[in-house]
Amino acid sequence: MRFDVLTLFPAMFEAVLGDSMIGRAREKGLIEAHFTDMRDFTENKHRQVDDYPYSGGGGMLITPAPVYNAYMSVAEGLNYKPLTIYMSPQGRVLDQELVKELANYNHIVLICGHYEGIDQRVLDEIVDMEISVGDFVLTGGELPAMAVIDSVSRLIPGVLGAEDGFKNESHYNGLLEYPQYTRPAVWHGKPIPDILLSGHHAKIEQWKHEQSLIATLKKRPDMLEKAELSDDDIKFLNEYKKQTENQ
Ligand code: SAM
Repeated sequence: MRFDVLTLFPAMFEAVLGDSMIGRAREKGLIEAHFTDMRDFTENKHRQVDDYPYSGGGGMLITPAPVYNAYMSVAEGLNYKPLTIYMSPQGRVLDQELVKELANYNHIVLICGHYEGIDQRVLDEIVDMEISVGDFVLTGGELPAMAVIDSVSRLIPGVLGAEDGFKNESHYNGLLEYPQYTRPAVWHGKPIPDILLSGHHAKIEQWKHEQSLIATLKKRPDMLEKAELSDDDIKFLNEYKKQTENQ
């Protein structure tokens, strides 16, 4: 999987994506990430990338040329079009479904805006999709691009220590993850749940699933409306609700 990021601030990326699991995955060659400075692709001697919007108002816009030229430095000569994403507060909101979809691509280009954004004409010409990290506005697309690279990379085989560790995690199957505990078995007088010391694998799996249902009910009940619940899950949740209502 290859990521190309077009940005005015390439130095921001190595600090985050050069370390930890993603850094190791890059060292192992499981993922490639390249950061292209759009300022290297301006067509004026002052290397100026922005200009005033014709519509007036405050702020500056990134001009089309540095974005297009930086993009062509990546895409020219390829016999396919890499999936080209503009990080934008106007895009489809990133969630685990979208992360799974993106993990199917071999090559993704992420374009990071700054200032008031980017001239619409170049976006119309090269962008396949806009992605937002939420209904709020950030200064630039760099943090959102990092979120895409990190979340997608975790799904690439070999990137996580445990091959399919992500399958138990929150959002993978439409539920939140169950609570987890590590040593010591008693901390501040609080013991871990007995079941986890029972050695009974099937019962522990059932406990984990039930705790996932409870966590989702308590923290994100909206997710249960879309989750694929079995009859047993629905029965369990109804009983749990009845019990807690009576408390
Ligand atoms: N004027 C733009 C608008 O109202 O839609 C917002 C521009 S924002 C200040 C500058 C850049 O930050 C955007 O071009 C985009 O790349 C990035 N950005 C800001 N918020 C974002 C979000 N929620 N998700 C993804 N990218 C975002």
